[in-house]
Amino acid sequence: SLKGKNAVITGSTSGIGLAIARAFAAEGVNVVLNGFGDPTEIETQRADIETTFGVTALYSDADLTKGAACAGLIAFADKALGTVDIVVNNAGVQHVAPVEEFPDDKWDLILALNLSAAFHTIKAAVPGMKARKWGRIINTASAHALVASPFKSAYVAAKHGIAGLTKTVALETAPFGITVNAICPGYVWTPLVEKQIPDTMKARGMTEAQVKDMLLAEQPTKQFVTVEEVAALAVFLASDNARSITGALQQMDGGWVAK
Ligand code: NAD
Repeated sequence: SLKGKNAVITGSTSGIGLAIARAFAAEGVNVVLNGFGDPTEIETQRADIETTFGVTALYSDADLTKGAACAGLIAFADKALGTVDIVVNNAGVQHVAPVEEFPDDKWDLILALNLSAAFHTIKAAVPGMKARKWGRIINTASAHALVASPFKSAYVAAKHGIAGLTKTVALETAPFGITVNAICPGYVWTPLVEKQIPDTMKARGMTEAQVKDMLLAEQPTKQFVTVEEVAALAVFLASDNARSITGALQQMDGGWVAK
């Protein structure tokens, strides 16, 4: 059982990360939340996890675009909880624009947060996991770790990068009871998807209804993935029954990548 283990979930004040944090807490895992947002709302979410699930829930506002802040987040969790057993690299942002107009600062931001942050948290967490001969690293990648879509050059590059990082660290840590996997969701209805609709409308000259149809056109199920489904997969990947799953890029995309 995962009871009593400690997990850091990056970008967990919203969307998929928050659902993953709640799903781990439901298994008796203490959680460190991270991300941005309204402080009162974040405190409500944190306190609700403690009262609902009877675990310790902490919060860090670390800005993970900075490598030192990623290492600092792991150090904070380690100091407060004693160990970091599970790391979920989930924080991520999107920007939609044709490559010739893609802002340099957005490229740098997306590579820093969606890719380099995972390198820095992994680097900081692996020594403790190796020493204890147990660890779980789960990266929220994307279908865009496996296939591309136009106008998302930075995001697709970063997500393909995290696929490579996942496989490499899986090989290095396999002898130490550590697994490293990526979840590759298709379109999940979260604030991240909601926010890109106006830019996609602009880039493609479409209405909102057309953009939603276009997103779901990728998914043969014609349904958005739910955050709860992604969270349930994360919990399974952390379980002992998943100990032989490592270096995997697990699709959860309603059949998108199978096409
Ligand atoms: P979201 O916008 O709901 O959540 C993103 C989280 O990251 C928030 O908690 C936000 O505060 C946090 N964050 C943003 N900038 C940060 C920073 N500098 N430092 C620390 N935290 C920061 O998005 P989501 O849809 O839940 O996305 C979560 C992950 O899932 C991302 O990596 C995303 O690429 C991936 N993903 C999402 C979808 C989808 O359709 N929603 C599909 C595939 C993959």
